[in-house]
Amino acid sequence: MRRLYIDFDGVVMDTIPLLYNELEKNNVTLDNEEQIRKVFGSFDFRTIIKDKNILNDSIECINKILDSKRFEVAFLSHVNSLDEGVVKIKYLRRHFKDDITIIIVPKSVSKTKMVHSEGAILVDDFSGNLKEWEEAGGISVRFSKEMESKGYRVLNRLDSLLDMFDENGDEIC
Ligand SMILES: [Mg+2]
Repeated sequence: MRRLYIDFDGVVMDTIPLLYNELEKNNVTLDNEEQIRKVFGSFDFRTIIKDKNILNDSIECINKILDSKRFEVAFLSHVNSLDEGVVKIKYLRRHFKDDITIIIVPKSVSKTKMVHSEGAILVDDFSGNLKEWEEAGGISVRFSKEMESKGYRVLNRLDSLLDMFDENGDEIC
């Protein structure tokens, strides 16, 4: 079975606009990485990781993907703090029992350094992650609400993966 890694923020949950709001509230611009790390490092993610922020039926879509038995599914999420990691793990475990692996990745580490990316699919909204993934031999799929591909395969619902890859996990051309 082909391995499938699913990002959390901006894929499972529509947290990105809410996180940008938080930066704005703190007068932090997007180019100030140190300040961003500070704000998100102490931000209470419980205030935004909620069912009402589920992005385009992602939980339902992931259940469909699991039912299809086409992929070995894992979550692969960057975190700014261990607390953020714990909030995400608790949230995902409420929706999924032990049939999905959850991997949290320190923000400063590439996702390609945490798992074996070669031949595996990554669905992520951030092109930087997708670029690294592809360079490490992985298959990159961009999640974009507006279907902006930025040069990658693109989808705005996770169950579109079932139209993109066949039962062997090979790409349908
Ligand atoms: Mg993301």
